[in-house]
Amino acid sequence: MNYWGDLLEKSEKSKSIAVVLSIFLGLIGINRFYLGHIWTGIFKLILCLFFFIFIESIGGFFILIAVCWWISDICKTAKDKLVPIDIEKAMKARMQKCKRCGVEYDPDFVYSMPPYCSIHCQKMSEAGY
Ligand SMILES: [Zn+2]
Repeated sequence: MNYWGDLLEKSEKSKSIAVVLSIFLGLIGINRFYLGHIWTGIFKLILCLFFFIFIESIGGFFILIAVCWWISDICKTAKDKLVPIDIEKAMKARMQKCKRCGVEYDPDFVYSMPPYCSIHCQKMSEAGY
C-alpha cells in the first residue's frame, strides 16, 4: 500500500459510500457534499436547478454538463482521483515543482527524484542535458 492508499484507508469518509452516493445522487452533487467539496457540490446542484428553470430553452445545455460531470465523478471516485477534501489538501501540500519544467509531482512517487520530475526531466538530467 502506498502513502496515499494508507491515508485514504484511515479517512473517516468511506470510499464505498462515496461511490454509491456518486452513482445515485451524484447528479445533484450529494457525493461532493459528502467528501467535503461543498462549493463544487453547490455548483452541481445549481446546474440541475438551471435545467428546470430553463427547461423551455437552454436547459438541455446545463443538464448535459451535469451528466458529463456526474459520470466523471463516478470514475474519479472509483479511481481515487476524487478524494475527501482533507486528503486532497494534504496531497497538494506535498506536491513539488520540477526545477526544469515546472510540472507538479509527488516526491513519494517511486520514480521521482527531486528536484526533477520523473516524466522526462529526471532522465534528461541523468543524461547530462
Ligand atoms: Zn520536469
